[in-house]
Amino acid sequence: MKKRFIWYILAAFILSIIVGTMLGENASFVQPLGDLFLRLIKFIIVPLILATIIVGVTSAGSVRKLSRLGGKTLGYYLATSFIAISIGLIFGYLFTPGTNTGIDTPEPSSSSALAESEGVIQTILNIVPTNPMEALATGNILQIIFFAICIGIGIILVGESALPVQRFFNGLADIMYKITNSIMLLVPFGIFGLLTPIIGEYGLSVLLPLLKLILAVLAACIIHAGIVYALAVKSMAKMNPFHFFKGIFPAAAVAFSTSSSSGTLPVTMKNTQENLNVSKETSSFTLPLGATINMDGTAIYLGIATVFISQYYQIELSFPQLLTLALVATLASIGTAGVPGAGLIMLTMALTVVSLPLEGIALIASIDRILDMMRTSVNVIGDASASVVVDASESQREINKT
Ligand code: ASP
Repeated sequence: MKKRFIWYILAAFILSIIVGTMLGENASFVQPLGDLFLRLIKFIIVPLILATIIVGVTSAGSVRKLSRLGGKTLGYYLATSFIAISIGLIFGYLFTPGTNTGIDTPEPSSSSALAESEGVIQTILNIVPTNPMEALATGNILQIIFFAICIGIGIILVGESALPVQRFFNGLADIMYKITNSIMLLVPFGIFGLLTPIIGEYGLSVLLPLLKLILAVLAACIIHAGIVYALAVKSMAKMNPFHFFKGIFPAAAVAFSTSSSSGTLPVTMKNTQENLNVSKETSSFTLPLGATINMDGTAIYLGIATVFISQYYQIELSFPQLLTLALVATLASIGTAGVPGAGLIMLTMALTVVSLPLEGIALIASIDRILDMMRTSVNVIGDASASVVVDASESQREINKT
């Protein structure tokens, strides 16, 4: 079943392309199938994150080990995000997607695309929930992670009398994994239901003027994954990169069709634990965190999109401006939820930092979904690579100790 699963996913892709191209906008009739799948994976996210992070933290056993795990994870996330935005900027200059587009200067776009993003300080303050129940009810992932880490540390510090609470969350995590297993069987149908209407909606006429931009993002994503992640898992975890990409493929495919790394989280966890043999302890800590704060694909996109807009308006960006952009975008990705279109909102912030016209966003908004599909896949693969690397380094530590 496991082996055939990849073929089912590929078949869903091919079928989506055929049906979407044949039916055009009429292909939207399969949308409810996609929506059903999305609702199913979204409904497990909040209890899954809460329970698995508490389990991850408590099974670390000590605050010291937890800080080490956290430090390694954050270090990896920040480093790969910085590399990603640098690759994005380089590809922006290599492909020059903003020159000779033949598109008229856009009027200021719809309010949603131009919605102001929050400042970095406010973003960091927002990590602390004023009411954890509200965070759970509204699905504010970063606040839930904060709450879960505090509960986990609390359980470690209290010890004996907190054991029933620990057992409760262990059980809840196992239940959520079981539900995930059942939903996974629907992945090929979900992909078909989500992808077909998108392919039907985006005809070639929408894509062609911005083809260079799409290709630049695609090439940068492939290079980033094929070089940075492949080198990371090979050198730091002694894992064959081919095995890594094959193992994470179902999650990358779900990310591609849902454009949501948070929504893909249950699948990412399952693939990482079962196909890549990462311990539950590491994956249940690194992955929910990564789905929210680690977005290498988005960083690549921000780099290319900013250069694209500067080329379109013929405004040169200086080296210090590019460096500031790289630093700010790396930090800004922390506060962005792993939901569709989040990167477009982050782009407003990136443009503000380098003083480029915000109207440029309207140029990209029409094809943002296509770029979102690619960047979300990279976001998810990046989270999994962190999990593999951190887990290997923890296991090595254990071996050295004995
Ligand atoms: N859709 C992306 C994600 O969920 C975020 C983005 O829009 O860049 O990871």
